[in-house]
Amino acid sequence: MARPLRADIDLDALCHNYRLARDLAPTSRSLAVLKADAYGHGLVPCARALEGLAPAFAVACLEEAEALREGGITAPIVLLEGIFSADELARVEALKLGTVVHSDWQVEALLSHRPAEPIPTWVKVDSGMHRLGFAPERAASVWARLSAAPAQACDLHLMSHFATADHADTAYFEHQMRTLNALAETLNAPTCLANSPATLARPESHGAWNRPGVMLYGSDPLEASNSASRELEPVMTLRSQLIAVRDLDEGEPVGYGGRWRAPRPSRIGVVACGYGDGYDRHAIDGTPALVAGRRTTLVGKVSMDMLTVDLTDIPEADIGSEVVLWGRAANGEVLSVDEVARHCDTISYTLLTGVLPRVPRRYHSG
Ligand SMILES: *Cc1c(COP(=O)(O)O)cnc(C)c1O
Repeated sequence: MARPLRADIDLDALCHNYRLARDLAPTSRSLAVLKADAYGHGLVPCARALEGLAPAFAVACLEEAEALREGGITAPIVLLEGIFSADELARVEALKLGTVVHSDWQVEALLSHRPAEPIPTWVKVDSGMHRLGFAPERAASVWARLSAAPAQACDLHLMSHFATADHADTAYFEHQMRTLNALAETLNAPTCLANSPATLARPESHGAWNRPGVMLYGSDPLEASNSASRELEPVMTLRSQLIAVRDLDEGEPVGYGGRWRAPRPSRIGVVACGYGDGYDRHAIDGTPALVAGRRTTLVGKVSMDMLTVDLTDIPEADIGSEVVLWGRAANGEVLSVDEVARHCDTISYTLLTGVLPRVPRRYHSG
């Protein structure tokens, strides 16, 4: 038998979450964000599952768009960071991609390119994230130049990104919205603003297009969950098995450095999953896991290929029992990746994108 660790990907849950994003914003269209190998879920299988549901996809770079086209995806694709060098425009054109422009050199490159068909263009404005985009006071001149070049750029949209849409405190989000509303009105521009938290909780930001990402994969990005975010379903289940079980006396340690010591006579299970699979080594004692569909906790440091869990209160658990590190157990019990992330001092995004290639992905639907 092979090593039991795998990532089960529930494509029906992916579609459910996309429909939720769509239904929350009935007057917007929603780009499905598929960057970083669909947040670790597998780029082409996720795109195929969403084709016919999502009118367009968004990725971080040309290589990801090429992989989608090679996978047979014909829907519109947007490059969220645009081109990284002027020579990429030929491929953008050949693959019929849309592109973001966030810097002057990208605008110059686009305007000096002579495409057979104009390229759908998304003008990125920095409304307060202070990462990519034109300062608001420069947006009008960029917009005017691109508007005056219909042979190069078409379908102009105003794009911006929120720094704090997930926060319960909305002050900075509202500051960004005021900037964007003023700009969109001046330019009479259709907008594309909302990421997952804004899609879920800030309907005033919904534009011609939204850009839900992590919510599609079932992670709740909101600091304070709401009725919509509670409807999200986990897409990835990181699933393994117990490969050994042992009994410890009170006071005996487990694993490297003996970080955890049994506070009582304990039964310990060894799970085939470790940081060499992408499971976060920062996981503290007390990080939740599901064994045979019941909640328990990690005890001791995560090793490269293994980690250890407390089975003392799960007497039915034995070698071969199912272990879910996050996702949905066979009995339907759910452990959210967000909860695991909090115990690793990180966010779901890093756990999901961090599952390494040695973990086989298995796709399920229907
Ligand atoms: C990744 C990304 C998104 C999606 O963000 P989520 O928080 O995952 O919803 C949206 N827009 C841009 C520009 C991004 O880079």
